[in-house]
Amino acid sequence: MHLDPEDWNAFRVLAHQMVDDTLDHLTGLADEPVWRPMPDEVRAAFNAPLPLDGGGEEAAYQDYLDLVRPYPSGNLHPRFFGWVEGNGTALGAMADMLASALNPHMAGFNQAPALVEEQVLRWLGEAMGFPAKAGGIFVTGGSMANLLGVTVALRTRATFDVRAEGLQRDGPRLTLYGSTETHGWARKAVELLGLGDQAFRRIPTDDAFRVDIPIMRNRIRADRAAGHHPFCILGTAGTVNTGASDDLAALADLAAEEALWFHVDGAFGAWAYTSDRLRPLVAGIEQADSLAFDLHKWGSMPFECACVLVRDAEAHQAAFAAPAAYLTPAERGVIAGGLPFANRGMDLTRGFKALKVWMSLKAYGLRRFVEAVEENVDQAQHLAALIDAHPNLERLAEVPMNVVCFRYHPADEQPGLADLNAINEEILLRLQERGLAVPSSTTVRGCYAIRACFVGHRTQHSDVQALADSVLAIGEEVTTGAGS
Ligand SMILES: *Cc1c(COP(=O)(O)O)cnc(C)c1O
Repeated sequence: MHLDPEDWNAFRVLAHQMVDDTLDHLTGLADEPVWRPMPDEVRAAFNAPLPLDGGGEEAAYQDYLDLVRPYPSGNLHPRFFGWVEGNGTALGAMADMLASALNPHMAGFNQAPALVEEQVLRWLGEAMGFPAKAGGIFVTGGSMANLLGVTVALRTRATFDVRAEGLQRDGPRLTLYGSTETHGWARKAVELLGLGDQAFRRIPTDDAFRVDIPIMRNRIRADRAAGHHPFCILGTAGTVNTGASDDLAALADLAAEEALWFHVDGAFGAWAYTSDRLRPLVAGIEQADSLAFDLHKWGSMPFECACVLVRDAEAHQAAFAAPAAYLTPAERGVIAGGLPFANRGMDLTRGFKALKVWMSLKAYGLRRFVEAVEENVDQAQHLAALIDAHPNLERLAEVPMNVVCFRYHPADEQPGLADLNAINEEILLRLQERGLAVPSSTTVRGCYAIRACFVGHRTQHSDVQALADSVLAIGEEVTTGAGS
Protein backbone atom coordinates (compact mmCIF):
# COMPACT_ATOMS: atom_id res chain seq x y z
CA MET A 1 0.00 0.00 0.00
CA HIS A 2 1.14 3.53 -0.68
CA LEU A 3 -0.52 6.93 -0.30
CA ASP A 4 -0.26 8.14 -3.88
CA PRO A 5 -3.47 8.24 -5.95
CA GLU A 6 -4.68 4.87 -7.21
CA ASP A 7 -5.61 6.44 -10.50
CA TRP A 8 -3.22 9.21 -11.46
CA ASN A 9 -5.33 10.30 -14.40
CA ALA A 10 -8.43 10.78 -12.30
CA PHE A 11 -6.34 12.58 -9.70
CA ARG A 12 -4.92 14.88 -12.36
CA VAL A 13 -8.46 15.90 -13.35
CA LEU A 14 -9.31 16.53 -9.68
CA ALA A 15 -6.12 18.53 -9.11
CA HIS A 16 -6.87 20.75 -12.11
CA GLN A 17 -10.38 21.22 -10.75
CA MET A 18 -8.93 22.34 -7.39
CA VAL A 19 -6.82 24.96 -9.14
CA ASP A 20 -9.72 26.18 -11.27
CA ASP A 21 -12.11 26.39 -8.32
CA THR A 22 -9.48 28.23 -6.27
CA LEU A 23 -8.93 30.84 -8.95
CA ASP A 24 -12.70 31.25 -9.47
CA HIS A 25 -13.05 31.83 -5.75
CA LEU A 26 -10.30 34.46 -5.71
CA THR A 27 -11.64 36.32 -8.75
CA GLY A 28 -15.21 36.35 -7.37
CA LEU A 29 -14.40 37.56 -3.87
CA ALA A 30 -15.50 41.18 -4.11
CA ASP A 31 -19.12 40.12 -4.70
CA GLU A 32 -19.17 37.83 -1.67
CA PRO A 33 -19.82 38.90 1.92
CA VAL A 34 -16.58 39.48 3.79
CA TRP A 35 -17.67 36.98 6.44
CA ARG A 36 -20.64 34.76 7.08
CA PRO A 37 -21.62 33.12 10.36
CA MET A 38 -21.49 29.33 10.16
CA PRO A 39 -24.87 27.50 10.22
CA ASP A 40 -25.32 25.01 13.07
CA GLU A 41 -25.58 22.02 10.75
CA VAL A 42 -22.22 22.88 9.21
CA ARG A 43 -20.65 23.25 12.65
CA ALA A 44 -22.14 19.89 13.64
CA ALA A 45 -20.36 18.21 10.72
CA PHE A 46 -17.06 18.77 12.54
CA ASN A 47 -18.15 16.31 15.19
CA ALA A 48 -17.94 13.42 12.71
CA PRO A 49 -15.79 10.56 14.04
CA LEU A 50 -12.25 9.65 12.97
CA PRO A 51 -12.51 8.02 9.54
CA LEU A 52 -10.89 4.59 9.69
CA ASP A 53 -11.63 3.89 6.05
CA GLY A 54 -11.41 6.77 3.63
CA GLY A 55 -14.10 7.99 1.24
CA GLY A 56 -11.71 8.93 -1.55
CA GLU A 57 -9.99 12.12 -2.68
CA GLU A 58 -13.02 13.55 -4.45
CA ALA A 59 -15.28 13.25 -1.42
CA ALA A 60 -12.60 14.81 0.80
CA TYR A 61 -12.34 17.74 -1.60
CA GLN A 62 -16.12 18.12 -1.70
CA ASP A 63 -16.14 18.35 2.11
CA TYR A 64 -13.56 21.12 1.86
CA LEU A 65 -15.79 22.97 -0.61
CA ASP A 66 -18.93 22.52 1.50
CA LEU A 67 -17.65 22.83 5.04
CA VAL A 68 -14.42 24.81 4.99
CA ARG A 69 -14.06 27.20 2.10
CA PRO A 70 -17.23 29.25 2.76
CA TYR A 71 -16.37 29.82 6.44
CA PRO A 72 -12.95 31.38 7.03
CA SER A 73 -12.54 34.65 8.93
CA GLY A 74 -12.58 36.67 5.73
CA ASN A 75 -9.03 37.95 5.29
CA LEU A 76 -8.93 37.22 1.54
CA HIS A 77 -11.50 39.95 1.04
CA PRO A 78 -10.88 43.58 -0.02
CA ARG A 79 -13.02 44.84 2.90
CA PHE A 80 -11.24 42.90 5.62
CA PHE A 81 -9.57 45.44 7.93
CA GLY A 82 -9.31 43.44 11.14
CA TRP A 83 -6.22 42.79 13.27
CA VAL A 84 -3.21 42.59 10.91
CA GLU A 85 -4.00 39.93 8.35
CA GLY A 86 -2.74 39.99 4.79
CA ASN A 87 -4.83 38.88 1.79
CA GLY A 88 -2.19 36.50 0.42
CA THR A 89 -1.70 36.27 -3.35
CA ALA A 90 -2.66 33.80 -6.03
CA LEU A 91 0.97 33.30 -7.02
CA GLY A 92 1.92 32.79 -3.37
CA ALA A 93 -0.74 30.10 -3.05
CA MET A 94 0.52 28.32 -6.16
CA ALA A 95 4.10 28.62 -4.90
CA ASP A 96 3.04 27.03 -1.60
CA MET A 97 1.60 24.17 -3.59
CA LEU A 98 4.88 23.78 -5.49
CA ALA A 99 6.84 23.96 -2.23
CA SER A 100 4.66 21.24 -0.74
CA ALA A 101 4.93 19.07 -3.81
CA LEU A 102 8.72 19.37 -3.91
CA ASN A 103 8.73 18.89 -0.12
CA PRO A 104 12.37 19.71 0.61
CA HIS A 105 13.67 19.40 4.17
CA MET A 106 14.78 22.93 5.00
CA ALA A 107 17.29 22.27 7.76
CA GLY A 108 19.85 23.19 5.11
CA PHE A 109 21.59 20.72 2.77
CA ASN A 110 22.97 23.49 0.57
CA GLN A 111 20.97 22.47 -2.45
CA ALA A 112 18.73 24.74 -4.53
CA PRO A 113 15.96 25.17 -1.91
CA ALA A 114 18.52 26.30 0.69
CA LEU A 115 20.07 28.69 -1.81
CA VAL A 116 16.61 30.13 -2.47
CA GLU A 117 16.15 30.86 1.25
CA GLU A 118 19.64 32.37 1.58
CA GLN A 119 19.05 34.53 -1.48
CA VAL A 120 15.68 35.79 -0.28
CA LEU A 121 17.18 36.60 3.14
CA ARG A 122 19.90 38.63 1.41
CA TRP A 123 17.31 40.44 -0.71
CA LEU A 124 15.21 41.27 2.34
CA GLY A 125 18.30 42.32 4.26
CA GLU A 126 19.17 44.69 1.43
CA ALA A 127 15.63 46.09 1.42
CA MET A 128 15.91 46.75 5.19
CA GLY A 129 19.34 48.40 4.98
CA PHE A 130 21.17 45.49 6.65
CA PRO A 131 24.77 44.63 5.70
CA ALA A 132 25.26 41.81 3.18
CA LYS A 133 26.89 39.59 5.78
CA ALA A 134 23.89 39.65 8.12
CA GLY A 135 22.22 36.34 8.93
CA GLY A 136 18.60 35.36 9.22
CA ILE A 137 15.99 32.68 8.95
CA PHE A 138 12.39 32.17 7.87
CA VAL A 139 9.96 31.19 10.61
CA THR A 140 6.23 30.79 11.10
CA GLY A 141 5.39 34.33 12.17
CA GLY A 142 6.39 37.56 13.83
CA SER A 143 6.01 36.07 17.31
CA MET A 144 8.57 33.36 16.59
CA ALA A 145 10.84 35.78 14.72
CA ASN A 146 10.83 38.15 17.69
CA LEU A 147 11.43 35.27 20.11
CA LEU A 148 14.49 34.22 18.14
CA GLY A 149 15.83 37.78 18.04
CA VAL A 150 15.49 38.20 21.80
CA THR A 151 17.02 34.77 22.37
CA VAL A 152 20.12 35.77 20.40
CA ALA A 153 20.21 39.02 22.40
CA LEU A 154 20.04 37.18 25.71
CA ARG A 155 22.63 34.58 24.81
CA THR A 156 24.99 37.17 23.35
CA ARG A 157 24.72 39.89 26.00
CA ALA A 158 24.51 37.98 29.28
CA THR A 159 27.79 37.98 31.19
CA PHE A 160 27.66 34.21 31.62
CA ASP A 161 26.92 31.20 29.43
CA VAL A 162 23.12 31.20 29.44
CA ARG A 163 22.98 28.14 27.20
CA ALA A 164 24.96 26.07 29.71
CA GLU A 165 23.90 27.56 33.01
CA GLY A 166 20.36 28.67 32.29
CA LEU A 167 18.76 31.28 34.49
CA GLN A 168 18.39 29.20 37.65
CA ARG A 169 21.40 30.76 39.27
CA ASP A 170 22.06 33.57 41.69
CA GLY A 171 23.23 36.79 40.17
CA PRO A 172 22.02 40.00 38.62
CA ARG A 173 18.56 40.07 37.10
CA LEU A 174 18.61 40.29 33.29
CA THR A 175 16.23 43.02 32.13
CA LEU A 176 14.90 44.30 28.81
CA TYR A 177 13.04 47.43 27.82
CA GLY A 178 10.14 48.19 25.49
CA SER A 179 6.99 50.26 25.63
CA THR A 180 3.53 49.68 27.03
CA GLU A 181 2.46 49.39 23.37
CA THR A 182 4.75 46.42 22.69
CA HIS A 183 2.81 43.53 21.16
CA GLY A 184 1.86 40.51 23.27
CA TRP A 185 4.60 38.29 21.81
CA ALA A 186 7.04 39.92 24.25
CA ARG A 187 5.26 38.59 27.29
CA LYS A 188 5.16 35.08 25.88
CA ALA A 189 8.83 35.32 24.92
CA VAL A 190 10.18 36.47 28.29
CA GLU A 191 8.08 33.83 30.01
CA LEU A 192 9.30 31.10 27.68
CA LEU A 193 12.93 32.19 27.99
CA GLY A 194 12.66 31.88 31.76
CA LEU A 195 13.28 35.60 32.27
CA GLY A 196 9.80 36.10 33.68
CA ASP A 197 7.41 38.88 32.81
CA GLN A 198 8.85 41.19 35.47
CA ALA A 199 12.14 41.30 33.56
CA PHE A 200 10.33 43.15 30.76
CA ARG A 201 10.25 46.81 31.71
CA ARG A 202 7.24 48.37 30.01
CA ILE A 203 8.04 52.06 29.59
CA PRO A 204 5.17 54.55 29.09
CA THR A 205 4.62 56.27 25.76
CA ASP A 206 4.10 59.88 24.75
CA ASP A 207 0.84 61.23 23.29
CA ALA A 208 1.69 59.70 19.92
CA PHE A 209 2.16 56.23 21.48
CA ARG A 210 5.95 56.30 20.98
CA VAL A 211 8.10 55.07 23.82
CA ASP A 212 9.30 57.84 26.14
CA ILE A 213 13.04 57.64 25.69
CA PRO A 214 14.16 59.75 28.68
CA ILE A 215 12.07 57.52 30.97
CA MET A 216 13.59 54.43 29.36
CA ARG A 217 17.10 55.80 29.85
CA ASN A 218 16.41 56.54 33.51
CA ARG A 219 14.96 53.10 34.07
CA ILE A 220 18.00 51.40 32.50
CA ARG A 221 20.34 53.43 34.70
CA ALA A 222 18.27 52.85 37.82
CA ASP A 223 18.20 49.11 37.14
CA ARG A 224 21.94 49.05 36.67
CA ALA A 225 22.45 51.04 39.87
CA ALA A 226 20.25 48.48 41.65
CA GLY A 227 22.57 45.68 40.51
CA HIS A 228 20.50 44.37 37.60
CA HIS A 229 21.88 43.60 34.16
CA PRO A 230 20.02 45.37 31.33
CA PHE A 231 20.68 43.52 28.06
CA CYS A 232 18.22 44.56 25.38
CA ILE A 233 16.02 47.37 24.06
CA LEU A 234 12.92 46.46 22.05
CA GLY A 235 11.74 49.04 19.54
CA THR A 236 8.51 48.73 17.59
CA ALA A 237 8.05 49.76 13.97
CA GLY A 238 4.28 49.92 13.66
CA THR A 239 2.41 49.13 16.88
CA VAL A 240 -0.57 46.90 16.54
CA ASN A 241 -2.96 49.32 18.27
CA THR A 242 -2.39 52.52 16.31
CA GLY A 243 0.48 51.98 13.84
CA ALA A 244 2.80 54.28 15.81
CA SER A 245 6.55 53.71 15.53
CA ASP A 246 9.09 54.37 18.24
CA ASP A 247 11.92 56.78 17.41
CA LEU A 248 14.13 53.92 16.29
CA ALA A 249 17.18 56.04 15.50
CA ALA A 250 17.11 57.46 19.03
CA LEU A 251 16.63 53.98 20.48
CA ALA A 252 19.62 52.76 18.46
CA ASP A 253 21.67 55.59 19.98
CA LEU A 254 20.47 54.74 23.47
CA ALA A 255 21.29 51.07 22.96
CA ALA A 256 24.78 52.02 21.78
CA GLU A 257 25.29 54.40 24.73
CA GLU A 258 24.21 51.75 27.21
CA ALA A 259 25.88 48.83 25.37
CA LEU A 260 22.56 46.97 24.92
CA TRP A 261 21.30 44.78 22.11
CA PHE A 262 18.78 46.60 19.91
CA HIS A 263 15.94 44.45 18.66
CA VAL A 264 13.16 45.82 16.45
CA ASP A 265 9.69 44.31 16.12
CA GLY A 266 8.72 45.39 12.63
CA ALA A 267 5.99 42.77 12.21
CA PHE A 268 4.19 44.89 9.66
CA GLY A 269 5.76 48.35 10.03
CA ALA A 270 9.19 47.27 8.77
CA TRP A 271 7.69 47.38 5.29
CA ALA A 272 7.53 51.17 5.52
CA TYR A 273 11.31 51.10 5.27
CA THR A 274 11.09 49.85 1.67
CA SER A 275 9.33 53.06 0.57
CA ASP A 276 11.27 56.29 0.01
CA ARG A 277 8.18 58.19 1.10
CA LEU A 278 7.51 56.22 4.30
CA ARG A 279 11.08 55.38 5.37
CA PRO A 280 11.42 58.40 7.69
CA LEU A 281 8.70 56.86 9.92
CA VAL A 282 10.91 53.91 10.77
CA ALA A 283 14.39 55.29 10.13
CA GLY A 284 16.86 53.57 12.45
CA ILE A 285 15.60 50.07 11.61
CA GLU A 286 18.80 49.56 9.66
CA GLN A 287 20.76 49.98 12.91
CA ALA A 288 19.02 47.11 14.71
CA ASP A 289 21.05 44.14 15.91
CA SER A 290 18.05 42.02 15.06
CA LEU A 291 14.87 42.80 13.15
CA ALA A 292 11.76 40.62 13.07
CA PHE A 293 9.08 41.11 10.45
CA ASP A 294 6.28 39.28 8.73
CA LEU A 295 5.92 38.53 5.07
CA HIS A 296 2.38 37.26 5.67
CA LYS A 297 1.01 40.61 6.84
CA TRP A 298 2.06 43.61 4.74
CA GLY A 299 4.17 41.43 2.45
CA SER A 300 0.96 39.72 1.25
CA MET A 301 2.40 36.20 1.34
CA PRO A 302 0.02 33.41 2.34
CA PHE A 303 0.36 32.26 5.96
CA GLU A 304 2.83 31.37 7.31
CA CYS A 305 5.85 33.46 6.49
CA ALA A 306 8.05 35.71 8.62
CA CYS A 307 11.74 36.26 9.10
CA VAL A 308 14.29 37.52 11.55
CA LEU A 309 17.46 39.22 10.36
CA VAL A 310 20.48 39.26 12.67
CA ARG A 311 23.28 41.71 11.98
CA ASP A 312 25.95 39.41 13.46
CA ALA A 313 25.43 36.09 11.69
CA GLU A 314 27.97 34.36 13.95
CA ALA A 315 26.18 35.45 17.11
CA HIS A 316 22.96 34.13 15.58
CA GLN A 317 24.52 30.74 14.92
CA ALA A 318 26.27 30.63 18.32
CA ALA A 319 22.91 31.12 20.00
CA PHE A 320 21.38 27.97 18.52
CA ALA A 321 24.00 25.62 17.06
CA ALA A 322 23.62 22.12 18.48
CA PRO A 323 25.77 19.55 16.67
CA ALA A 324 24.63 15.91 16.71
CA ALA A 325 26.19 12.71 15.43
CA TYR A 326 23.28 12.04 13.08
CA LEU A 327 23.62 15.56 11.59
CA THR A 328 27.41 15.65 10.99
CA PRO A 329 28.24 17.42 7.71
CA ALA A 330 30.48 15.81 5.07
CA GLU A 331 32.68 17.35 2.38
CA ARG A 332 30.60 15.78 -0.34
CA GLY A 333 27.18 14.25 -0.81
CA VAL A 334 23.74 15.43 0.21
CA ILE A 335 24.75 16.94 3.55
CA ALA A 336 27.69 18.96 2.18
CA GLY A 337 27.31 22.51 3.49
CA GLY A 338 25.74 21.23 6.68
CA LEU A 339 22.41 22.23 8.14
CA PRO A 340 22.70 26.00 8.53
CA PHE A 341 19.02 26.62 9.19
CA ALA A 342 18.88 24.01 11.95
CA ASN A 343 21.51 26.14 13.69
CA ARG A 344 19.56 29.40 13.49
CA GLY A 345 16.39 28.58 15.41
CA MET A 346 14.32 25.91 17.09
CA ASP A 347 13.07 23.97 14.09
CA LEU A 348 14.94 21.09 12.52
CA THR A 349 12.49 19.91 9.90
CA ARG A 350 11.19 23.04 8.18
CA GLY A 351 8.99 23.75 5.17
CA PHE A 352 9.96 25.72 2.09
CA LYS A 353 8.41 29.10 3.03
CA ALA A 354 11.00 31.05 1.07
CA LEU A 355 9.84 29.79 -2.34
CA LYS A 356 6.71 31.96 -2.42
CA VAL A 357 8.75 35.05 -1.57
CA TRP A 358 11.42 34.22 -4.14
CA MET A 359 8.88 33.66 -6.93
CA SER A 360 6.85 36.73 -5.94
CA LEU A 361 9.86 39.03 -5.97
CA LYS A 362 10.90 37.63 -9.34
CA ALA A 363 7.39 37.98 -10.74
CA TYR A 364 6.46 41.41 -9.40
CA GLY A 365 9.68 43.03 -8.21
CA LEU A 366 10.01 44.78 -4.87
CA ARG A 367 8.55 47.95 -6.37
CA ARG A 368 5.05 46.52 -6.67
CA PHE A 369 5.09 45.51 -3.04
CA VAL A 370 6.24 49.01 -2.08
CA GLU A 371 3.40 50.53 -4.12
CA ALA A 372 0.87 48.29 -2.37
CA VAL A 373 2.18 49.46 1.01
CA GLU A 374 2.02 53.12 -0.01
CA GLU A 375 -1.50 52.60 -1.34
CA ASN A 376 -2.62 51.17 2.02
CA VAL A 377 -1.19 54.19 3.85
CA ASP A 378 -3.10 56.46 1.45
CA GLN A 379 -6.29 54.51 2.20
CA ALA A 380 -5.76 54.94 5.94
CA GLN A 381 -5.28 58.68 5.41
CA HIS A 382 -8.41 58.75 3.26
CA LEU A 383 -10.44 57.09 6.02
CA ALA A 384 -8.98 59.51 8.58
CA ALA A 385 -10.04 62.43 6.35
CA LEU A 386 -13.59 61.05 5.99
CA ILE A 387 -13.80 60.68 9.77
CA ASP A 388 -12.47 64.16 10.44
CA ALA A 389 -14.92 65.66 7.97
CA HIS A 390 -18.01 64.01 9.49
CA PRO A 391 -19.66 65.40 12.64
CA ASN A 392 -20.80 61.92 13.77
CA LEU A 393 -17.40 60.25 13.48
CA GLU A 394 -14.49 60.75 15.84
CA ARG A 395 -10.88 59.73 15.33
CA LEU A 396 -9.27 58.35 18.50
CA ALA A 397 -5.58 58.40 17.54
CA GLU A 398 -3.13 59.86 15.08
CA VAL A 399 -2.76 57.92 11.82
CA PRO A 400 0.96 57.85 11.12
CA MET A 401 0.84 54.70 9.01
CA ASN A 402 -1.93 52.24 8.10
CA VAL A 403 -4.06 51.87 11.25
CA VAL A 404 -7.14 54.00 11.99
CA CYS A 405 -8.88 53.96 15.39
CA PHE A 406 -12.21 55.74 15.48
CA ARG A 407 -15.77 55.61 16.75
CA TYR A 408 -19.26 56.66 15.96
CA HIS A 409 -20.09 59.65 18.15
CA PRO A 410 -23.39 61.39 17.33
CA ALA A 411 -22.72 65.12 17.48
CA ASP A 412 -26.18 66.17 18.58
CA GLU A 413 -26.31 63.75 21.52
CA GLN A 414 -24.02 63.46 24.53
CA PRO A 415 -23.80 59.75 25.25
CA GLY A 416 -21.58 58.76 28.19
CA LEU A 417 -18.46 56.67 27.75
CA ALA A 418 -20.18 53.38 28.61
CA ASP A 419 -22.94 54.09 26.09
CA LEU A 420 -20.46 55.06 23.40
CA ASN A 421 -18.48 51.90 24.02
CA ALA A 422 -21.61 49.74 23.77
CA ILE A 423 -22.86 51.56 20.66
CA ASN A 424 -19.57 51.07 18.87
CA GLU A 425 -19.24 47.43 19.81
CA GLU A 426 -22.73 46.86 18.43
CA ILE A 427 -21.80 48.70 15.22
CA LEU A 428 -18.71 46.54 14.81
CA LEU A 429 -20.60 43.29 15.33
CA ARG A 430 -23.37 44.26 12.90
CA LEU A 431 -20.76 45.24 10.29
CA GLN A 432 -19.19 41.82 10.64
CA GLU A 433 -22.37 39.76 10.87
CA ARG A 434 -23.82 41.39 7.77
CA GLY A 435 -20.61 40.68 5.89
CA LEU A 436 -20.21 44.38 4.99
CA ALA A 437 -16.68 44.86 6.33
CA VAL A 438 -14.50 43.33 9.01
CA PRO A 439 -12.63 45.85 11.14
CA SER A 440 -11.58 44.76 14.65
CA SER A 441 -11.57 46.65 17.93
CA THR A 442 -9.16 47.95 20.52
CA THR A 443 -9.11 50.31 23.47
CA VAL A 444 -7.50 53.72 23.02
CA ARG A 445 -7.12 55.81 26.21
CA GLY A 446 -10.00 53.93 27.77
CA CYS A 447 -12.33 54.29 24.77
CA TYR A 448 -13.66 51.39 22.74
CA ALA A 449 -12.34 51.94 19.23
CA ILE A 450 -13.29 50.49 15.88
CA ARG A 451 -9.90 49.68 14.42
CA ALA A 452 -9.24 49.46 10.68
CA CYS A 453 -5.85 48.16 9.62
CA PHE A 454 -4.89 48.42 5.97
CA VAL A 455 -2.59 45.67 4.79
CA GLY A 456 -4.72 44.21 2.00
CA HIS A 457 -3.47 44.61 -1.55
CA ARG A 458 -7.03 44.03 -2.84
CA THR A 459 -8.54 47.01 -1.01
CA GLN A 460 -9.72 49.94 -3.15
CA HIS A 461 -10.55 53.50 -2.15
CA SER A 462 -14.23 52.64 -2.71
CA ASP A 463 -13.95 50.02 0.04
CA VAL A 464 -12.79 52.74 2.41
CA GLN A 465 -15.80 54.86 1.55
CA ALA A 466 -18.06 51.82 2.00
CA LEU A 467 -16.64 51.26 5.49
CA ALA A 468 -17.29 54.85 6.55
CA ASP A 469 -20.81 54.81 5.05
CA SER A 470 -21.68 51.52 6.74
CA VAL A 471 -20.48 52.72 10.14
CA LEU A 472 -22.62 55.85 9.81
CA ALA A 473 -25.71 53.96 8.67
CA ILE A 474 -25.44 51.31 11.37
CA GLY A 475 -24.57 53.95 13.97
CA GLU A 476 -27.80 55.75 13.17
CA GLU A 477 -29.69 52.47 13.34
CA VAL A 478 -28.17 51.51 16.71
CA THR A 479 -28.73 54.88 18.35
CA THR A 480 -32.34 55.11 17.14
CA GLY A 481 -33.01 51.54 18.21
CA ALA A 482 -33.70 50.27 14.69
CA GLY A 483 -32.38 46.99 13.28
CA SER A 484 -31.62 43.71 15.04
C1 LIG B 1 1.19 40.57 14.36
C2 LIG B 1 2.22 41.19 15.19
C3 LIG B 1 3.15 40.40 15.88
C4 LIG B 1 3.07 38.91 15.89
O1 LIG B 1 3.29 38.38 14.59
P1 LIG B 1 2.62 37.01 14.15
O2 LIG B 1 3.03 36.86 12.74
O3 LIG B 1 1.13 37.20 14.31
O4 LIG B 1 3.15 35.95 15.06
C5 LIG B 1 4.15 41.04 16.59
N1 LIG B 1 4.22 42.39 16.63
C6 LIG B 1 3.34 43.18 15.99
C7 LIG B 1 3.50 44.66 16.06
C8 LIG B 1 2.31 42.61 15.24
O5 LIG B 1 1.43 43.39 14.60
